[in-house]
Amino acid sequence: MKRVIVTGGTGLVGKGIEAALAHGDARDDEEWIFLSSKDGDLSDLEATRAIFAKHQPTHVIHLAAMVGGLFRNMKYNLDFLRVNMAINDNVLACAHEFKVEKVVSCLSTCIFPDKTTYPIDETMVHLGPPHSSNFGYSHAKRMVDVYNRAYHAQHGSKFTSVIPTNIYGPHDNFNIDDGHVIPGLIHKVYKAKAAGEKLTCWGSGTPLRQFIYSEDLGRLMIWALREYPEIDPIILSVDEAAEVSIRDVVHKVADAAGFSRDDVVFDTDKADGQFKKTAANTKLRKYLPDFKFTPIDEGIKRSVDWFFENYEQARK
Ligand code: NAP
Ligand code: GDP
Repeated sequence: MKRVIVTGGTGLVGKGIEAALAHGDARDDEEWIFLSSKDGDLSDLEATRAIFAKHQPTHVIHLAAMVGGLFRNMKYNLDFLRVNMAINDNVLACAHEFKVEKVVSCLSTCIFPDKTTYPIDETMVHLGPPHSSNFGYSHAKRMVDVYNRAYHAQHGSKFTSVIPTNIYGPHDNFNIDDGHVIPGLIHKVYKAKAAGEKLTCWGSGTPLRQFIYSEDLGRLMIWALREYPEIDPIILSVDEAAEVSIRDVVHKVADAAGFSRDDVVFDTDKADGQFKKTAANTKLRKYLPDFKFTPIDEGIKRSVDWFFENYEQARK
């Protein structure tokens, strides 16, 4: 029997894994335990050790992190660096101490060098400084790959990582100031509709992003835990052709909420962040050539409907 703990299991991605398991991916020989910060603060070594001692996991999906959109990252680069370094150091140290068979940690495509060639691939993680807007978060995440290689070199550990692009879906953090673009726009369109006001998209709308629906990512992370054999990271991304502009995204959110595109305005005094971070999913396609991603219109419609139906309980 495998016992899998999912750190950060109550967030956007944890709920995506839970949904994938509920919709056909569960197996009889696996027990899944989804943890939140209420189960213990993973930036504290003793609290982390207590969690591992209690659950005795054989496998770990490590999602817990201080997470935020562009604007939260720009304000708190030091906190993102320190908190995430501490969480990652503690989780991997305890996974080693408690003889966990495999760990899959979650990185992000924002960790890649800002000045680079496109598309980005897995070999480029450490080839230059990340974008300045979120350098604290990015450096902490890059170090997970260094830890994984060091644990493997010194102890033969099977600790690996996945690199998803921007993620969205139900149970996201819909806080307008701290969250990412899709949940932020969904919350803003809700308010704009209620107040009969314009919907303001921050920045110019020209940056490009690849978005992965949380349940698709959940399914891929379950696969990575069971099957992915490498220590080196793997990019989990939709195809390059599915990259969209932020302008496209705000229009899709407006359409899904029944809000007129004519009432969308762009606040160009706000930052755009990185222009693009186009990632190749060639490695993923080598392993899973037929994986079908949820089309973004469908994923946005589901996320908008979820937020409107769950407004009272939603994280905001
Ligand atoms: P999220 O919705 O904000 O969830 C974060 C989770 O981590 C929550 O379960 C939270 O617990 C837990 N957590 C935070 N600090 C903790 C601490 N000190 N101790 C224990 N648990 C803690 O984040 P997410 O979007 O699902 O992100 C999951 C992973 O994906 C992260 O590693 C993130 O860096 C990565 N990622 C996210 C995106 C994206 O677009 N969202 C993109 C690329 C990569 P509570 O619920 O109790 O607070
Ligand atoms: P990033 O991919 O790390 O830059 O993360 P975000 O999801 O925070 O931002 C992506 C892009 O969306 C940036 O160009 C932002 O300027 C733009 N954007 C437009 N409206 C919003 C919003 O309401 N919230 C956020 N977070 N970004 C927004």
